[in-house]
Amino acid sequence: MAFRVSRGILKNIRCSTTMRPLNTCHRSLSAAIMSSSTLSLEDAEQLFGLVSTKQLLRSSAIQHAMAVESMVDLGMWAMKSKVFESGMMKDVMMSTMRQTVYAHFCGGEDAAAAGRSILALNDTGLRSMLAYGVEDAHDNEGCDKNLQGFLHNVDLSKSLPPSSVSFVILKITAICPMALLERLSDLLRWQKKDPSFVLPWKQDSLPIFAESSPLYHTQNRPEPLTPGEESDLELANQRLLELCQKCEEANMPLLVDAEHTTVQPAIDYFTYSSAIKYNKDNNPIVFGTIQTYLKDAKERLLLTTEAAQKMGVPMGFKLVRGAYMSTESKLAQSFGFASPIHNTIQDTHNSFNDCSSFLLQKVANGPGSLVLATHNIESGKLAVAKAHELGVEKVNQKVEFAQLYGMSDALSYGLSNAGFQVSKYMPFGPLEMVMPYLIRRAEENRGVLAASGFDRQMTRKELGRRLKALCSKF
Ligand SMILES: Cc1cc2nc3c(=O)[nH]c(=O)nc-3n(C[C@H](O)[C@H](O)[C@H](O)COP(=O)(O)OP(=O)(O)OC[C@H]3O[C@@H](n4cnc5c(N)ncnc54)[C@H](O)[C@@H]3O)c2cc1C
Repeated sequence: MAFRVSRGILKNIRCSTTMRPLNTCHRSLSAAIMSSSTLSLEDAEQLFGLVSTKQLLRSSAIQHAMAVESMVDLGMWAMKSKVFESGMMKDVMMSTMRQTVYAHFCGGEDAAAAGRSILALNDTGLRSMLAYGVEDAHDNEGCDKNLQGFLHNVDLSKSLPPSSVSFVILKITAICPMALLERLSDLLRWQKKDPSFVLPWKQDSLPIFAESSPLYHTQNRPEPLTPGEESDLELANQRLLELCQKCEEANMPLLVDAEHTTVQPAIDYFTYSSAIKYNKDNNPIVFGTIQTYLKDAKERLLLTTEAAQKMGVPMGFKLVRGAYMSTESKLAQSFGFASPIHNTIQDTHNSFNDCSSFLLQKVANGPGSLVLATHNIESGKLAVAKAHELGVEKVNQKVEFAQLYGMSDALSYGLSNAGFQVSKYMPFGPLEMVMPYLIRRAEENRGVLAASGFDRQMTRKELGRRLKALCSKF
């Protein structure tokens, strides 16, 4: 659903908060915190010093509910159930969702509400990655509608205080029909198998595959694109370029999410070909995402960064572990191949930390930027230590940490207190539109949600401290 950003509403939001210099209280928190070079997560008061008690209470309630796996199961059943598709039951379920899970994990139902959430977050020293909560598109009409949403996101980010929004998030699967992305990925994979296979539509790009990349998805030589598919590809290119152009004018980086390997080659192709056009002068506008749970992640990263360097293209990457583990394993198994994902969780941790260290060195010594998107405390600690060792300037445009909105707040505030830029990935949009996103996130992060004991413990500790302080006044 497209939405309009009302100038009036945005003006009101701005006026109510921008009179006060941003992060005033954050900066005055403590000089000692800001000068810390390590990640300190022990002091709950320091971590949550700028978070309201109301917010902490809600977070605590949601965290405790999410820690009970059967509650997550029940919530997911309710979100998917036909019982709630219409009538009074639907109203009750929607209203419950709106006030609980939705309020905790999403920025708001429209631009004005998202704007308010962004400003509230910014008052606590954090930035926002603005994610318009759409899922896959299957035809040009759906893609055009989604594009309007992404373009309005750029308008919204421009209307807010500078640097309160760090990135506009793009899902390529929302602006290029899914079936076409699958066809393009097949064709790109076949060209990797047979370099003499000509793809007349292919523009300049960076390497998408490494020698170790899985190609089993494409068993037979695919047919070339039909004239209809070529024209759909042209439309998808135009959508992407329109969005990049708008981001360039607003100087707002566009961060492209990674998805499953069936379509990821085409996503990387679109990302890199637009990065070649728009990333200039040490100012990446288009950022790609590398999923480090994939066995070929490091090799691809090396090839891509090397090629970008040779072409003089400053690249921006977001590093994640990856969120499609069970789909990937099942798909590989159906072809009779081993999973493309690391065999053990420890291998995935090592891969994330290794890629993170590699990119920190790259950005410390040259152009390019890096987003470390993780809730993993150990990875956070290692990256902070490495950034410190390399002297990568804190609070600059080169390194950003990120967590999902509503998750791992202790880590976010700890990193921010250590002087780094930290963003929350904030989906927004009408509840019904964002519902598939919530279901997907709940399924993907089931383990993470249940295991977020550290956040629960720290939130409880801070609430207890505030209660004690209040009682001591009487
Ligand atoms: C800001 C942000 C943006 C994101 N964008 C994307 C995106 O574009 N694309 C995407 O795919 N994901 C994305 N994610 C989700 C991310 O990939 C992870 O699913 C999620 O963050 C959990 O990983 P973690 O680094 O937080 O680590 P942890 O909290 O340590 O979680 C580790 C998780 O890794 C999984 N895992 C990975 N490899 C293995 C293995 N070999 N064996 C067992 N378990 C394994 C398990 O599910 C485990 O729960 C994003 C996350 C954030 C915070």
